[in-house]
Amino acid sequence: MVGAGIQGLWCAWAMARRGRRVSVLSAGADPRVDPAASQASTTAGESGRLLTLLEGRPFVGSAAGAFERTVTDGGWLGREPDERSRWWAHARRAAAMDARAVAETTDWYALASARALDLWSRAARDDAHLFDGASLYQGAITRLYDSPPVASAAARQHQDRGVLVRHIEDAASLKAQVPLAESSIGAGTVRAAVVTRGLSLDIRRFVANLIEHLEGLGVTFSWNTRVTGLRWHDGERLSAVQTPAGEVAARDVILAPGAYSQPSLLEALGARITGVAGRWLLMPRPPGWAGPLKLHLTPEGQGVAGPALDLNFMAYRDQARDRDALAVGGGYIHVGGPPFATDPAQLARVDAQIASAVERLWPQWWRRCDREGAIVRSSALCVRSFTTDDRPAFVNRPTTLGGRFVLHAGLNTGTATMAPAIAEAIADVLEGTGESAGMLHPNPETAAGCSPSLPGALEARVTTTSPGAFA
Ligand SMILES: Cc1cc2nc3c(=O)[nH]c(=O)nc-3n(C[C@H](O)[C@H](O)[C@H](O)COP(=O)(O)OP(=O)(O)OC[C@H]3O[C@@H](n4cnc5c(N)ncnc54)[C@H](O)[C@@H]3O)c2cc1C
Repeated sequence: MVGAGIQGLWCAWAMARRGRRVSVLSAGADPRVDPAASQASTTAGESGRLLTLLEGRPFVGSAAGAFERTVTDGGWLGREPDERSRWWAHARRAAAMDARAVAETTDWYALASARALDLWSRAARDDAHLFDGASLYQGAITRLYDSPPVASAAARQHQDRGVLVRHIEDAASLKAQVPLAESSIGAGTVRAAVVTRGLSLDIRRFVANLIEHLEGLGVTFSWNTRVTGLRWHDGERLSAVQTPAGEVAARDVILAPGAYSQPSLLEALGARITGVAGRWLLMPRPPGWAGPLKLHLTPEGQGVAGPALDLNFMAYRDQARDRDALAVGGGYIHVGGPPFATDPAQLARVDAQIASAVERLWPQWWRRCDREGAIVRSSALCVRSFTTDDRPAFVNRPTTLGGRFVLHAGLNTGTATMAPAIAEAIADVLEGTGESAGMLHPNPETAAGCSPSLPGALEARVTTTSPGAFA
């Protein structure tokens, strides 16, 4: 297993549960010792993660055009990009997908997320120790919308997947559901809500517990061990992964390197994982806080449009200030591949949008916290792995030892949510069983058009790029 983010760890767990001997190689440090040095988006930024049906969602179709504009111009590009034409080519392919393909991709995300939510809930029930100290919240998560049609579409998706708790469209019920947002409901900034089943948790703590658990199952970890290359036999079968300390061979190899992988590692596969950065601010928790919130603002609605369209509001305990606090995160800032670089002006734009959105949601609370200097703006980036055509880039090839080599190349913003479902699908591929491997091919027809088959790829119908697209 290459990669010890949430995806790699769930994969390692899925394989260990199936009786396999598993070794994990990670370029980063042991996150139990130093989460910041683990070079993983799993442990980057604030530790809270929301797990709901729409965390992992595609940005195909019209949204793909956002890659063509900088943040200042209302798009998602975080810098004046020398690589822009490459990203465009990619996003354009996604934008060119027909309505059916967009619907299928969207449905695939919802299906995989629903499966994953069940697997998370099962783990919380059957392996409760993994959530010790992880502030697990299981219950209603409220999504607030400025656009009733967008809320209705989201409600339908949740309904179809059996995770809708309530869809609220009238102001009186909205105020009863989220009394905290009363003034923004009155002002029309919040016009609908979707209350959904979901989870939230402190992912650093969960990851630490899962690593302990895996060690107990006999899984070994090599930290600070970067895979620098892949050795192929006949250009067809993987024979080993290369590290500065030497080569490592295994029957099956899974590569889940997230956004921090070096592009050179993936080039030979014709795959490229880029990063989308978010920003966040920290503030005291408003009185009457009842659980995780999400705020969705659209250009069409009454809210603040821009890359800070979706904000997550997560409760946490601010130990340093000894107070109950909120982390408010948002923003889609496409930063290309590592090393990540952004234009400060673009970041400042996103920060201003986040601040403005929170102010519109809670005008009085915001002004009070601002007056008291209680709002902390982080200057860091949190980078999520991302593929501009929104396809989970899977490569599935044989190894010389009779197993499989699988690359999982990032699933947009929701990899944390979807990790268990993806891990099960990958485990099925390695076992050569199971229809859940079908999850890897959500839309073979259009995917074939999007990404011609890779040389030697057997089942790689869904990939990030066509070979040489970034050469
Ligand atoms: C602040 C923030 C908030 C987020 N909120 C949510 C949320 O609410 N819900 C949600 O679902 N998602 C959320 N996300 C996204 C989610 O956390 C990430 O998409 C997910 O954790 C990515 O997991 P991963 O395992 O794919 O990659 P990573 O966590 O990046 O892990 C990659 C691993 O691969 C290793 N690696 C990389 N290259 C190599 C190499 N060459 N050799 C060896 N090892 C290598 C790294 O060291 C690391 O261990 C958020 C992300 C951030 C940063």
